[in-house]
Amino acid sequence: MARTRKIFPLFEQVEILDAGSEGKAIARVDNQVVFVPFVVPGDVVDIKVVRKKKSFLEGKAVKFHRYSDRRVEPKCEHFALCGGCKWQNMSYEDQLSYKQKQVVDNFERIGKLDITGLRSILPSDEQYFYRNKLEFTFSDRKWLVSNENMDSGEENMNGLGLHLPGMFDRIVDLNNCYLQPDPSNEIRLAVRDFCLEKNYTFYNTKIHEGFMRNLIIRTSSTGEVMIIVVFAEDLKDQIADVLTFITKRFPTTNSLFFVVNTKWNDVINDLELKLYKGNPYINESMDDLKFKVGPLSFYQTNSRQAEKLYQVAQDFADFKGDEVVYDLYCGTGTITNYIAASVKKAIGIEYIPSAIDDAHENSHINGIENTRFFVGDIAHTLDEAFFEANGKPDVVITDPPRAGMHQKVIRQLVTALPEKIIYVSCNPATQARDIALMADHYKIEKIQPVDMFPQTHHVENVVLLVRKDGREDCGLKTEDCRLKTDPDSYREKTEEPNLNISLK
Ligand code: SAH
Repeated sequence: MARTRKIFPLFEQVEILDAGSEGKAIARVDNQVVFVPFVVPGDVVDIKVVRKKKSFLEGKAVKFHRYSDRRVEPKCEHFALCGGCKWQNMSYEDQLSYKQKQVVDNFERIGKLDITGLRSILPSDEQYFYRNKLEFTFSDRKWLVSNENMDSGEENMNGLGLHLPGMFDRIVDLNNCYLQPDPSNEIRLAVRDFCLEKNYTFYNTKIHEGFMRNLIIRTSSTGEVMIIVVFAEDLKDQIADVLTFITKRFPTTNSLFFVVNTKWNDVINDLELKLYKGNPYINESMDDLKFKVGPLSFYQTNSRQAEKLYQVAQDFADFKGDEVVYDLYCGTGTITNYIAASVKKAIGIEYIPSAIDDAHENSHINGIENTRFFVGDIAHTLDEAFFEANGKPDVVITDPPRAGMHQKVIRQLVTALPEKIIYVSCNPATQARDIALMADHYKIEKIQPVDMFPQTHHVENVVLLVRKDGREDCGLKTEDCRLKTDPDSYREKTEEPNLNISLK
């Protein structure tokens, strides 16, 4: 039976009003919200609706009637196709003000929170080339701009680049990318051209065939480079051929790994990565600390801004030197180690064992002895017994993933009642929700947004929560707090960052 195609309306001459929190701009037609990508507030456009959801529409700008004076010329030739830098057509000042507004909107709308402690967003020194890690995808179905994507049948469709937003099987074959510093572009192009020349097959996600799968490049603030090549088939001669080429063409590479991933999914954490050349890690430095970053280690992707972020957390904490501090969701313990010298004891908790191995190693190479690290899901690890064994925290720094903190964790925090909680978040929506749940016990003293990801809508936000007076001895029962009032109502679906660019 033939499927009937839905016919969606065309809205004419609509003014774009706002830049939305998911990187799409916002228009309003007949009292309905319409999300439109790659336009900026002030543009007047015809919008073709492409999707209808319960409470909003999604559309595409098909004709421009007026260009906003907020527009700037995007730097990148791949803008509007590649999902990496959706805000490149907006001035950096405007990007910053919309990020600031995102924090305000979420805190006021979701959390109904007091934002008198809000400071202006800290801009990034580098607006391009700020990422230290990118994961590129080989595909035999690159996106062709010329023919709006019909497979031409003639042209070689192999390419290496980043995904188109929302299209897991199509990639933009990148000629140039402004996200990662040299030699990232050079490496990607050289490896792609070598594989094209050799006629090696590029991976097809849908049918799970092809040899070349991913190329991960990590750079560091110390100038070191790590390359990880992911093959989809265990073809020994060809693998050696590709790796030999990289070694010869980029002899100063500090670390070259490869892995054969024959699974349907792209996850490589569960596979054996083999070191082909150089060290099994690259070195990062921050202040006077050193960090070893392995192929699977987490490290904040904008190293320079990460330092600013941690400084904000440190300033907010205003340590006296005798505190027991918990660093929740500590990853490889970067924050734990960063603050260790200022406190009595710093305790990191994280559920990925290899990250905790890195955290220990990072304490060790920096001669830090007052850190302790624990592997486990924080929702299950943080309990009375843990407080008993390790001491109740005076200060908690928490930096959860986009989904925010589990309610059990929030409940434990309001039970332990540290004097200060510093909440670092890459998602102000879930952060506002979580803070609202603690509002009976903590007041917001300071809020500092930080821009870690220029040209995108993503914003990092640090909040200082200070325990309300008298709470320490109030014999509080957790049932008293707002947690009992339908916490699920605060749960919001949160968008994961597009592409294979991971923020955390
Ligand atoms: N603070 C770190 C980054 C943290 S990213 C830094 O600045 O480097 C968030 C971390 O939380 C990730 O390492 C992730 O593995 C961890 N995580 C997510 N959910 C968790 C949970 N339920 N229990 C423990 N760790 C968790």
